[in-house]
Amino acid sequence: MSQVQQLYLLQQIDTEIQEKKKRLGEVLRAQKETKALLAARKRLETAVADLQSWQTQRQDLNLALQSLKNKAKSAEQRLYSGKVKNPKELADLQSSIESIGRQRSALEDEILEAMIMLEDAETEKGAAEQSLQVLQADWEQAQAALKIEQNELALRVHALMGQRQTRLGTIDPPFLTEYDAIRKKQNGIAVVKIKNHICTGCRLNVSALKEKKAREGEKVYCASCGRIMVV
Ligand SMILES: [Zn+2]
Repeated sequence: MSQVQQLYLLQQIDTEIQEKKKRLGEVLRAQKETKALLAARKRLETAVADLQSWQTQRQDLNLALQSLKNKAKSAEQRLYSGKVKNPKELADLQSSIESIGRQRSALEDEILEAMIMLEDAETEKGAAEQSLQVLQADWEQAQAALKIEQNELALRVHALMGQRQTRLGTIDPPFLTEYDAIRKKQNGIAVVKIKNHICTGCRLNVSALKEKKAREGEKVYCASCGRIMVV
């Protein structure tokens, strides 16, 4: 096998290593919680906090209502006890009971509103839980697939590195130096095939003479991209 052909085989190994490493990077980056998942978790946290806040509020309002009811009851008991004779005190009691009644009515409106808000908060919490569950399940499934892919990629890169080492031993050092220099300039690709009289590196036509030389195993370069060409 000519040195150029050996170089082409090395190029194939290096190209695959480059691709696999790139994919490995993507796979590793993908193993993080997605924005959607984080947002869903945040939504649930907010929903739980809202629900607790409305529960506390309803409880406080109910306590306030109970205290008003007690106040009204004792005022009414005193008013109808027959013990109060003073007309001024009777009038005060009467107006106090009326005032308590107005406060009570306002409080009952507030309780009704709190109950509606509480119901909304419960609905939202349920929806947030369900959305998180679906996203979490999808994410876990994707994670399992990514883990498998990550292992496969790591094994493949390891095997390729071994193949690369073997291949390096078959190529003269000056060839390797040149190969590395072209790869650096040409996006990692130093050796390309001629296909239909075209350089597959840059799509430019290759002269018949160069193609003939390449076919004979001679080292020829693309006039345009400078890569080494093989047939
Ligand atoms: Zn070219």
